[in-house]
Amino acid sequence: MPIGAVIVYEDKVIASGYNRRAKLQLASAHAEMMAIDRACKKFHSWRLPEGCELYVSLEPCPMCMGAALNARVDKLYFGAYEQKGRSLTDQIAEANLLNHKTEVVGGVLEEECSALLTDFFSSMRQRAKEEKQRRRAQEEQTDNLEEL
Ligand SMILES: [Zn+2]
Repeated sequence: MPIGAVIVYEDKVIASGYNRRAKLQLASAHAEMMAIDRACKKFHSWRLPEGCELYVSLEPCPMCMGAALNARVDKLYFGAYEQKGRSLTDQIAEANLLNHKTEVVGGVLEEECSALLTDFFSSMRQRAKEEKQRRRAQEEQTDNLEEL
């Protein structure tokens, strides 16, 4: 899935990440985790300095929201909601027991972010359909050759 995340500090992008779960076959290789890890490495600290903001194209999952809280991200901006009309991210932010609050702003450029995912899935379906047709045509050709 095409999901991107950046960490901004003092109006500069200081770290970025994208979803590499399928490529790495790693359950934790989400865009936000990559960006947070890189930002922590940059500051040589698991605790990001005050003022770090995380921007991500899709609402974070509970793991990534937990990582954002643990790294002390101050503000989280996300684009598309995971589910219409329901935000688990807000609930996690409110329920967290850490002495840190992460402000959550959802629905930023929501239409554009949603379109990225919708386009991706429709092109995946199209590719699967074409592959199926190609295989069927190949089978028919093989059957015709065997008849000869
Ligand atoms: Zn995640």
